[in-house]
Amino acid sequence: MDKKLLDKIIEESFQYYKKGHVATYIPALGRVNPEQLGIAVYDLENNEQYFAGNAETSFAIESISKVPVLLLAIEERGLKNVFNKVDAEPTGFSFNSILNMEINKRTYPMNPFVNTGAIVINSLINGKNSDERFEKILSFMKLICNNEHLTLNQEIYESESRTGDINRSLAYYMKANDMFDGDVEDVLDSYFKQCSVNVNTIDLSNLAAVLANNGIAPWNNQQIVSEEAAITVKSIMTTAGLYDESGDFSTHVGIPAKSGVGGGLMAVSPDKFGIGVFGPALDKEGNSTAGMKALKLLVEKVGLNIFE
Ligand code: GLN
Repeated sequence: MDKKLLDKIIEESFQYYKKGHVATYIPALGRVNPEQLGIAVYDLENNEQYFAGNAETSFAIESISKVPVLLLAIEERGLKNVFNKVDAEPTGFSFNSILNMEINKRTYPMNPFVNTGAIVINSLINGKNSDERFEKILSFMKLICNNEHLTLNQEIYESESRTGDINRSLAYYMKANDMFDGDVEDVLDSYFKQCSVNVNTIDLSNLAAVLANNGIAPWNNQQIVSEEAAITVKSIMTTAGLYDESGDFSTHVGIPAKSGVGGGLMAVSPDKFGIGVFGPALDKEGNSTAGMKALKLLVEKVGLNIFE
């Protein structure tokens, strides 16, 4: 990797923020400055990190949290038990849609990266209440992001919780249809918290580097998750990581990635690079406009398309 290349990518992609808007359905996200773009790349070949732009700016992890929480659930319960509760099919609907379940008469959420699936996955984390589950989730995020200073962004959490009625309706719908046990408000509380952890692109590049390295943290060679879990998560990132834009992204960019409405993108170049990107202006599907452009340029310039 090369720092100059990343600087050039930021320069070429930055203006794409104009094609998007910050998320306003969570009021605290609506106050973020859209004119930001950062990238960090963890290079597995030499164990070095390279950054450019707003790489060190903190933002809410949002839906990218669905990756570490899924990994933790798989570690605690085993792959088979987790995928007995949630499928691994792309939905073709937005991340917080109820339609896919209603139209298809689903008995399980369609995948762990839409909100319904992520709420069920959160409920699978061992712990008797929201506080216990969130404590485990935060410790696991610290481990896999290699940053012991990760914290909850209280303002985002309160904003999500106050305005989270769509998530409430999804959760009550699932509860009424026997898709999960447990206390809806308590599970939603730890779900809102998992989405409200502050990260930066360096943290995301570390998380991605563990996946790129088949579950082993490249900074200390510790096996953090099983190879099987890492492979499963990368494949779902490829088919469902960018909500109802996942097919387009796989076709036109060609790298497993996961986005969040805080503007983050986490992408994996298997055996090569872990990548974190931040650009808070989003398209209508909820993905970072400048961030996707930056990833596309990086994939093209370095030749990282996994289907090539
Ligand atoms: N906390 C957000 C929500 O539940 C996460 C959505 C996202 O990043 N797509 O609506």
